[in-house]
Amino acid sequence: MEDDNFQFDTLAVRAGAYHTEYGAHTEPIFLTSSFVFDSPEQAAARFSGAEPGNIYSRFTNPTVDAFVTRLAALEGAEAGIATSSGMSAIMTVCLGLLSAGDRIVASHSIFGSTTQLFTQVLSRFGITTEFVGLTDLAAWEKALKQGAKFAYLETPSNPLTDVADIAALKQLTERYGALLVVDNCFCTPALQKPIEFGADLVVHSATKFIDGQGRVLGGAVVGKRALIESSLLPVLRTTGPCLSPFNAWLLLKGLETLSIRMERMSASALQLAQWLSTQPMVEAVYYPGLASHPQFSLAARQQRAGGAIVTFTVKGGRAEAWNVVRACRLFSVTANIGDARSTITHPATTTHGRIAPDVRQAARIGENLIRLSVGLENAQDLQADLQKGFSS
Ligand SMILES: *Cc1c(COP(=O)(O)O)cnc(C)c1O
Repeated sequence: MEDDNFQFDTLAVRAGAYHTEYGAHTEPIFLTSSFVFDSPEQAAARFSGAEPGNIYSRFTNPTVDAFVTRLAALEGAEAGIATSSGMSAIMTVCLGLLSAGDRIVASHSIFGSTTQLFTQVLSRFGITTEFVGLTDLAAWEKALKQGAKFAYLETPSNPLTDVADIAALKQLTERYGALLVVDNCFCTPALQKPIEFGADLVVHSATKFIDGQGRVLGGAVVGKRALIESSLLPVLRTTGPCLSPFNAWLLLKGLETLSIRMERMSASALQLAQWLSTQPMVEAVYYPGLASHPQFSLAARQQRAGGAIVTFTVKGGRAEAWNVVRACRLFSVTANIGDARSTITHPATTTHGRIAPDVRQAARIGENLIRLSVGLENAQDLQADLQKGFSS
């Protein structure tokens, strides 16, 4: 929207809205692969770029553009692109920014497929990745000093909710000539705006909280207009990881309720985290909204709330953790996060199951660790559901 004085909640339901001659209040879905021209002159002008406008939905589509415009407004970004999934958003960043011989410095605790992309795919094209501890600023500095195209991180981390100091990392990337790329999937702009702290690009798996109802895959990258237009758009248009207009429409609607969903989920997550901390069966609770969290004050500065992910360890090992998972009737046993329905995951045998045991131990992902993605059910009901696992 032109007027950027509007608050977040207003932008969430109004930014990027478009209207047609039929007067529909909700944005219609433009399910069309291509667009027609009034004349050969207009077709030529569109193709040459002399006239702005739609040509083909791999390049642009009004529904997809509306989603990107709205998300960019919410993140405080100048521009963005939408992609078919979170992974294709990250791939587009890599193809857009990297060349053979380049280096990436990334946090150890990033999404598993992102690690695979960096180490198994990009490595074949002569790109190397150095991994460092998310909160270890000295390690980031040492790695960035040796030169890197970009620094890459997620905060809070998955599954242990470590919080990175984005502003401090921006100082380092600026000093050593790297870009700062932040995956903001866990917080969404409703809770955290990495661009305010200096991030150059923000990537999203819109599949998670932005959709928020476990329906579709989608992704996005937002940030500096120059980077988006010169480096990312040409790759998106040429290689084709474009977002379906149908998915874009669902995600556009998802953004309208993002803020209230994230607030409610965070409130329930905090309540559960506080209750878990009092349970005799529980060894430790990891949640950025708890005063016991090592980066509690940083999280309070950087995030509007703690988010929906609560992780805890039970006393014992795999058997005790699986007892809790097994006893749940409300929490869905799945590795997915960001759904309106709460989910429970045993990372050591699922999301982090293929990691070598010693590496997993170094990452503090033990057999007694459980991750919750708190949804929109009543918090008392969720608490009672977990209680069953502790009494069994
Ligand atoms: C799920 C996820 C991704 C990948 O997104 P897809 O939409 O599944 O491709 C990337 N980063 C984080 C933090 C995620 O949770």
